[in-house]
Amino acid sequence: MLRLLIALAVLLVPAIGHAQVKVVIDAGHGGSDPGGVGTGMQEKNVVLDVTNRFKALLAADTADTRGGGTWTALLTRSNDTFVSLAGRSAYSNNQGADRFMSIHANAFGDTSANGIETFSLAATGTSAQLRNLVQAEMVSAWALTNRGNKTANFAVLRDTAAPAVLHELAFITNPTDAAKLGSPVERQKAAVAHLRAIQRHYNIAPYVPGNPPPQDDTGEIAGLVVDSAGPVLGATVKLEGGATVVTGSDGRFVIAEAAAGMQTLTASADGYATQTVEVTVASAAREEIEIVLVREGVGDAPDDVNGEATGGCTTGRGAGLGLVFALAALFTRRRRA
Ligand SMILES: [Zn+2]
Repeated sequence: MLRLLIALAVLLVPAIGHAQVKVVIDAGHGGSDPGGVGTGMQEKNVVLDVTNRFKALLAADTADTRGGGTWTALLTRSNDTFVSLAGRSAYSNNQGADRFMSIHANAFGDTSANGIETFSLAATGTSAQLRNLVQAEMVSAWALTNRGNKTANFAVLRDTAAPAVLHELAFITNPTDAAKLGSPVERQKAAVAHLRAIQRHYNIAPYVPGNPPPQDDTGEIAGLVVDSAGPVLGATVKLEGGATVVTGSDGRFVIAEAAAGMQTLTASADGYATQTVEVTVASAAREEIEIVLVREGVGDAPDDVNGEATGGCTTGRGAGLGLVFALAALFTRRRRA
């Protein structure tokens, strides 16, 4: 008997570890039923777009093993077709869904009505817990009026066997809300909010698939851009493959995150020849550099630079940077002269 139990446990553990959650996403309305209409938009189109984006995120999260969960996303409709309310619940029940998430947009005659709200059938329980997370994530994503977590005896909430929520994205009839509904970027944020909500509902740390892995092997570059007269204000310093910053009135700049290793910086400013330097960035350290810009048309650096550049290289820095230091020393002397 004990052996049998151990064998069962061995079989069950991997199954639990790779639990696949079946989520039915229900885009409201469709086909002959446009849902709410306002500000040149139809609810059925807006909610279908968010639904398809949410489905894509669930698939991407499943494929991306660096974080997140494992999902099967099913849709009550994937195109502009009419599906009855009974048909939506029946589909979810036939599929044996784990969760049912309906997506709608609100509409009202008074265009001042606005905000986000989410419904469940009961005020407490699994559905309400998911409802609260969808509402919180959406309010965070769109920063519109929080109309709160609500209960309603909607058919899709009542007749669906799985814990179910119905979300109202925003008011299609309100100009401020409609600006969110009409923006593909904002609709993607809404889809991400739904992803984060279902992840948190399953005690999975929120994870958006496809984001680059955290880069912790970085250092900081702090620098000064000068010309023969002193600090150069408004010079653009670009880290190859990274940030672009502009110097302040003191000619200084900081690039807070640069990957450890040899990095290339390009400094440019109006009226100056563009200068490229190499910097070796150490992990979790600050590298201080000075970049000297030469006015265009001034010509090549003086002859004695070569000797000084050789001296600069003995510090172990790159030859390019050594040249920069040599130039800096040269110009510093000239300023003092
Ligand atoms: Zn609706």
